[in-house]
Amino acid sequence: QPKQAMEGGVETVSAKGGQTDLRDLTPDRLRDYVVSLGLPAKRARQIFTRLYHPGVRDFAQLGISREVTELLAKHASMSSLEPATVEKSADGTEKFAFRLADGAVIESVLIPEDGRHTLCISSQAGCAMGCRFCLTGGQGFVRNLRPAEIVGQVLAVMAHMVENGIQRATPRELLNNLVFMGMGEPLANYDTLLAALTILMDDHGLGFSERRITVSTCGIVPRMDDLGRDIRVNLAVSLHAADDAVRSRLMPVNTTYGLEALLAACRRYPLGKKKVILFEYIMLKGINDSLADAHLLAEKLQGIPSRINLLPYNGSGETEFACPDAAQTLAFQKVLREAGFNTFIRQSRGGDISAACGQLAGKS
Ligand code: SF4
Repeated sequence: QPKQAMEGGVETVSAKGGQTDLRDLTPDRLRDYVVSLGLPAKRARQIFTRLYHPGVRDFAQLGISREVTELLAKHASMSSLEPATVEKSADGTEKFAFRLADGAVIESVLIPEDGRHTLCISSQAGCAMGCRFCLTGGQGFVRNLRPAEIVGQVLAVMAHMVENGIQRATPRELLNNLVFMGMGEPLANYDTLLAALTILMDDHGLGFSERRITVSTCGIVPRMDDLGRDIRVNLAVSLHAADDAVRSRLMPVNTTYGLEALLAACRRYPLGKKKVILFEYIMLKGINDSLADAHLLAEKLQGIPSRINLLPYNGSGETEFACPDAAQTLAFQKVLREAGFNTFIRQSRGGDISAACGQLAGKS
């Protein structure tokens, strides 16, 4: 079993004999670590920058002096992820499965659209939240990911893109958007999420701006407040019902943080100019797809700068739910649009390779 360790408040599971994994460390923590090895603090910036070049997999590739390379190799580790499988959908969506050092499997999904690329990443192996329509939820919780395992998904997919001939002026332009909508509830792995975001957004790390990162939550209210206070990123909320009884049936989290508390947290969430909260609403036939549901949703979201994505259930056949008729979804959208909400119907991508929303189950 990998050894448990604490790094800067983040519980880590080291992949290599308990050594500190440099890719778990934010710039501040890396500086402390480098100094603890007797190196000058300014070395940390150089090491941090080079750690996040796609394709760098070991200390020798950092391009730093032999003496420092040997020192780091002696005391630390640098983990990287390699996809165990890559499946490509007919629509171009690619699903990557990663087997982690302890055997846990996580998945990431690369979604190309009009020359742009969005990467959907996982924050936990499995998920404890138990949403009834979600295959990840049905699988249960395995463990929290480390920062290196979150950022590692991004680096591995970037390296795969380069190896497959996708060219951009700089590596950081390969991915346009990152969304934390894969396996797991990101806010349930909060300290790690913050560390990973810090690395992803640092100019010397991967340089993602706040506009390009979206964290999605099922509604862990206290952590939504923490997120709004601690870092600037786009927020998405898996809403899926405008009625407490229906939402509690679909999403057990609603029995702890009901709609009133959730929507109050959305109203408090600090949004930048012209920013909105993305509300995701999976359309389930006969459960939450009536026009009365649409009117109730419009009423509940009144006053919240919103964008609503309607996600017709992808009908994987492994749950009791079904997808509504297209006409019903269009009528639902019309009600919301007439109430003034930017509302889009998002067809699932990658359904044929189980990469669509709610289909990630780590079975690859
Ligand atoms: Fe977890 Fe998200 Fe699935 Fe709910 S929808 S069980 S929060 S992965």
